[in-house]
Amino acid sequence: TDIGSQKDRVVSEEEWLQKWEMGNTGFHKEQGHPLLQKYLDVLLNGRSGLRIFFPLCGKAVEMKWLADVGHSVVGVEISEQALKDFFAEHSLPYCEEPVPEISGAKKLQSTSGNISLYCCSIYDLSSSILGKFDGVWDRGALVAVNPRDRQRYVSLMMTLMEENSSYLLVTVSYDPNKHKGPPFYVPESEIKSLFG
Ligand code: SAH
Repeated sequence: TDIGSQKDRVVSEEEWLQKWEMGNTGFHKEQGHPLLQKYLDVLLNGRSGLRIFFPLCGKAVEMKWLADVGHSVVGVEISEQALKDFFAEHSLPYCEEPVPEISGAKKLQSTSGNISLYCCSIYDLSSSILGKFDGVWDRGALVAVNPRDRQRYVSLMMTLMEENSSYLLVTVSYDPNKHKGPPFYVPESEIKSLFG
């Protein structure tokens, strides 16, 4: 079946970088995601001034939304172009610095300090570098992780969560025999077994 063939399919980092270069970024939502608006209360749970993590962040505009209402946002993304576009498209000044623990990685931080975006692979990061988070917005992240890396991804996410953190996960329900993506099908049963 196609689910079976998806299991072994791999989208390489090079392919992601190419998508950004070619402008094949149909996944980007200019207006932000309606489900974050709908479930924002669940994410925040009455708390303010949270640290919120955006794995595989692209140039998600929701990072700006949350920063604007007083949260501090940390994202990770392999495409430097995506991150630079993010700051440029919101006219946010930022500075760049190397990440001493990870060779070749950079951190792009808004001058106001409340948006820090790591340019590296998520698998290079750990809680000793990032600290822990009160909330996670996972949209286009777990579903973009190569199936063979899912368990590793989820285990890492668990180590990044504070005790009372909330994790909003967006997946898409569809017939994987009819549609190829986005980019991988993650059925609910798999989410249950991954996160426990
Ligand atoms: N969450 C974003 C982007 C989703 S697309 C949104 O909602 O718009 C998935 C993104 O993950 C792409 O921008 C891709 O460049 C990035 N990516 C893929 N593999 C990655 C990895 N190992 N580490 C960090 N980013 C990665």
